[in-house]
Amino acid sequence: MSKRTLCITEKLYDYMVDVSLRDSDLLRQLREETAKDEMAQMQISPEQGQFMTLLIHLIKARKTIEIGVYTGYSALCTAMALPDDGKLIACDISKKWTTIAKRYWEKAGVDHKIDLRLAPAVDTLGELLASGQESTFDFIFIDADKTEYNHYYEMGLKLLRTGGLIAVDNVLWDGAVADKSVHDEDTEAIRTFNKKVHADPRVEISLVPIADGLTLARKI
Ligand code: SAM
Ligand code: CA
Repeated sequence: MSKRTLCITEKLYDYMVDVSLRDSDLLRQLREETAKDEMAQMQISPEQGQFMTLLIHLIKARKTIEIGVYTGYSALCTAMALPDDGKLIACDISKKWTTIAKRYWEKAGVDHKIDLRLAPAVDTLGELLASGQESTFDFIFIDADKTEYNHYYEMGLKLLRTGGLIAVDNVLWDGAVADKSVHDEDTEAIRTFNKKVHADPRVEISLVPIADGLTLARKI
């Protein structure tokens, strides 16, 4: 019996991707274009994109939110997994990065499912709540500024239906969360968030050690 998650070496990672990643030309092209950007490490990995696609299919999500779009890779995976009348409210503050995103959403023929809101995500989530959309969303992906994770989670939980899923990215923060000598704002915010979710009776959880750590929280 295995009692811990494997340490994934480069060699094992390549093997894993080799035997499990189902790629498409468009996803690969977006990854390649994003790789030229100096912030390219912000994009989720291809196997995480595939995992999120599977989750969205499993819960038959139709109405979704993404907090943190960047060049649109995770949003593209989400939108492609949604039915034709599905919706993704995509929150970001960067016109430059989301211009790249929009180009790929159009190429993939999923742009009609995506409502991009260029504003601080807290404002957009507030508007959704104010317009009576509480408890109507099936899936929410949190991947923006780490110091606001607690706000996104609390507002997200209100917007989520019972049985809906919140996925929170970077909860292992490249290992810094377990390093007692690290005390920067982002690391502390993620630590506080992880502790809180661990004890939160409103959700059923699993911290999945894929990529940089993805916490799944299902609203009870
Ligand atoms: N999910 C994306 C992907 O996989 O390609 C990566 C998102 S990146 C880690 C974080 C994004 O959050 C950036 O594009 C940034 O502009 C956006 N962001 C930062 N602060 C924000 C805020 N207050 N409201 C909305 N978006 C914000
Ligand atoms: Ca991320």
